[in-house]
Amino acid sequence: MTERVYNFSPGPAVLPLKVLEEAQRNLVALPQIGISPLEISHRSPWFQGVLDETEANLRRLLAIPDHYRIVFMQGGSRLQFSLVAMNLLRGTGRSADYVVTGSWGQMAMQEAAREGTARAAYNSKPHNFDRLPQHGELELDPRARYVHLTSNETIQGVQFQSDLDAGGVPLVADLSSDFLCRPLDMSRYGLIYACAQKNAGPAGVTIVILRDDVLAQIDEGLPTMLDYRSFVKEKSLINTPPVFAIYLVMLVTRWLLDDVGGLAAMLEINRRKAGLLYDVIDGSRGFYRGHAQPNARSLMNVTFRLPDDATQDEFVKQAKARGLVELKGHRSVGGIRASIYNAMPMAGVEKLRDFMREFARL
Ligand SMILES: *Cc1c(COP(=O)(O)O)cnc(C)c1O
Repeated sequence: MTERVYNFSPGPAVLPLKVLEEAQRNLVALPQIGISPLEISHRSPWFQGVLDETEANLRRLLAIPDHYRIVFMQGGSRLQFSLVAMNLLRGTGRSADYVVTGSWGQMAMQEAAREGTARAAYNSKPHNFDRLPQHGELELDPRARYVHLTSNETIQGVQFQSDLDAGGVPLVADLSSDFLCRPLDMSRYGLIYACAQKNAGPAGVTIVILRDDVLAQIDEGLPTMLDYRSFVKEKSLINTPPVFAIYLVMLVTRWLLDDVGGLAAMLEINRRKAGLLYDVIDGSRGFYRGHAQPNARSLMNVTFRLPDDATQDEFVKQAKARGLVELKGHRSVGGIRASIYNAMPMAGVEKLRDFMREFARL
C-alpha cells in the first residue's frame, strides 16, 4: 500500500482513516446489497437510511432542537453566500449586518450586496484580519434581517472563541471550516451552513441547518433549487443529491460519536493539538510570528510567518521531505498555514511541532 503523508491542506482536507477504510471496503459492493455507493439510487432504502442517520447523528452531536431543519445542498459555501441573501435579504427596505473578520466574510458580504443592503457591522480589514471584535466594537442594527459571521476564517486563522449573541436578530453563520470542531449553543443560531470538505467529509455537499422562524421569513418566488424551503419540503431529495459525499459525512459523524466520544471530547483534543503549535510559535523568540492575535487564534488553521520568504520556502520544502505537506499559506496572505482539522491525528501535529522546533533551532 502507498504510504499516507500528513496532509495539512485547508480543504479538501484530511479525513479519518477509519472512514476511508470503511468506504474502501464498501466501494465495490455494499454488504447485502451488492451495489456500489457510487452507483446506488438516491431513492433507495439504503440512501434514505444514510440521510436519516446523518441527520440523527448531527442532531445528537450538536444537540439540535426539533424546530431546526437539516438539509444537504450542493454548490459549496460560495453558493450559500448568495442563497442566504436571496432567501432572507431580497425585498425593499431590508438590510443585513455582516461581521467581517477575514476574506470569506468579506466575500459573503459582497455577494449579499447584490441582493440588498449588506452593512459591515464590523470589519477588521484595516488590521489585516488578525482579530475579533472587542467589547463595544460591534455596531449591530436591531432592525437587521440577520447578522452574518464567519465562525472560523480559514485563510487568516481567526476563529470566534464563543457563540456570538446577536440579540433578537437571527444569527447566520458560515461554519465551513470549524463545523463539528466543538459544541455549539444552537439557540443562538438562525441558520448555519458548512461545506463538508474542510471538517465534515469530501467536497460536493453543504450542510445547512435552519430554524423554523427563519424559514418562515422567506418570500415566494425563488427558483426551486435556490429556495431553502423546497429542500426542507423534499427532505434534500428534490433532485439527485451527492450520494457518496453524504455517505461519507455519515461515516464522519459516526466516527465522532463512536470513536471520539462527541464534540466536547473533540474540542479537548483540538485544544491540545493547536496548543502544541502555538506553544512553539510563542516560545520561538520571534522566529515564528503568529498572524492572529492570541485571543482570536483558530483551533483549525494555525497561521504564521517566518523571517523571510526564502526561509519560508525552505521550511515548506524540508517539511515536505518529512511527509508534512500542504503547509504553504493562502496566496493572498502568504506565510505558513497548518490546517489541523478534527481528522488530523495528534501524531501528525506532534511531528510538525518537532520539525518546527528543529528548524528554528529551539
Ligand atoms: C472554504 C470556505 C468557503 C468556500 O467553500 P466552497 O465550498 O469552496 O464554496 C467559504 N467559507 C469558509 C469559511 C471556507 O473555509
